[in-house]
Amino acid sequence: MAKVGGCLFRIGYFLYTRTRIGYYYHRHDVAKAKEKYGVSSGHTVIHPVEYGSLQIIPIPMALDNYAYLIVDTQSKVAVVVDPGDPEPVESVLNEMNITPEAVLITHKHWDHSGGNSQMKNHYRGIRIYGGIHDDVPDVTHNVTDHDVLEFGRLRFHVVFTPGHTEGHVVYVLDGSPFGAPDSMFSGDHLFLSGCGRMFEMKASVMLRSLDKISQMNPNTLIWPGHEYAKENLEFACHLEPNNKAAQRKRAWVNQRRQEKLCTCPSTIQEELTYNPFLRTKEESVLLSIGVLSGDTFTVPSDEVRARALTEIRELKDNFKYLL
Ligand SMILES: [Zn+2]
Repeated sequence: MAKVGGCLFRIGYFLYTRTRIGYYYHRHDVAKAKEKYGVSSGHTVIHPVEYGSLQIIPIPMALDNYAYLIVDTQSKVAVVVDPGDPEPVESVLNEMNITPEAVLITHKHWDHSGGNSQMKNHYRGIRIYGGIHDDVPDVTHNVTDHDVLEFGRLRFHVVFTPGHTEGHVVYVLDGSPFGAPDSMFSGDHLFLSGCGRMFEMKASVMLRSLDKISQMNPNTLIWPGHEYAKENLEFACHLEPNNKAAQRKRAWVNQRRQEKLCTCPSTIQEELTYNPFLRTKEESVLLSIGVLSGDTFTVPSDEVRARALTEIRELKDNFKYLL
């Protein structure tokens, strides 16, 4: 969702999330992106990523969104994540001659859920899943923490991750039937080197949701809802100027983006080394933002870490890019 600043924020946010005005605003953004990138291409070149007979295809939408098409190529069972703009998704589905069984929605914002109604009309009987606490438009099935969704060999675990919105969820695909790592479709909860803005929940809630992710299998692949890697790593390097992992990743990401290539997936293990929002226990981060000072470093309390998260968020929102 685009930034709405100052004291008008609450009104703007209410209109965006609770009324059709939000939908039309979203369609305006989609039209702007088509003008910028052309009707038949998006912000990123489409390249399927394959793990045996598991295929994951990041599909660029709008200015910087990704939907994902997940296909078991053996059985042709397919699931779509967050098709906020259904057109580029349907064009890939048509090309592959595939009918999706389900749509998984991470949260209610229109740039993720704006395609639900059209997907419902175009694919008879399709199931549309969304978090029970998030009022996602046009869902057919509500999901909650620990739910397991199975479509043939595609098995997803639902993880409740409030913070960006009240009812945000992420979906973790079990990679084992394909001999692949697990894959997390993280919506606007976690980005490469970033996390979603805390529109609806306090920093302490977001912190708990980020800690939940940090404790998962470190090899889990992260497939986020936006292509923000370049800006996010610029900020990470600014915040931790001596962080070699951030510098290496920034160089790699800059190379990828020059060729309009996708920067995902990363892994949880990688994110822990450079993503400032996952590093609120680190001395270098806490010193850099001035939350801690002094000579002796002790493990910070959750209260200190939540304060750090708020501070990092604010610094990030005001960061001036020299890209
Ligand atoms: Zn969002």
